[in-house]
Amino acid sequence: MITRAKQIVCAVLEDLSERDGFKQVFKDMGVETQSELFKEIVQVVDDMLAKTVSDKVAEDLMLRFQNRKKEWEGKQKDNGLLPAGSPMYYYCKACGILIEMRSEGRFVRVPPLKHCQECVFLMNKGLIN
Ligand SMILES: [Zn+2]
Repeated sequence: MITRAKQIVCAVLEDLSERDGFKQVFKDMGVETQSELFKEIVQVVDDMLAKTVSDKVAEDLMLRFQNRKKEWEGKQKDNGLLPAGSPMYYYCKACGILIEMRSEGRFVRVPPLKHCQECVFLMNKGLIN
């Protein structure tokens, strides 16, 4: 998507640079389409696009997080209250979804995960605690 957006930006900039009005602007600014400055402009636009895309992704993930949290609110089973022999339930500590179910008494080598994958991503981005 970014690549396509970048292609469009490059095409538009190149197209603009060929038009009389813009040709003068580019010329006045001392920007040649093959120059480092031109490439820098494309890079700046590219960075802006990349930021916009990742902001959108983060926004979508935050929305998903809030929906998961709402959907799972109060649905967690208390392992301590379940009858003996029941499986153990492990939930994401951030959003509350069920991450794993383990048979009670099963030898556990790997500790259960504390957070689901999407919440780990959001935590790494500093968007949730
Ligand atoms: Zn989660």
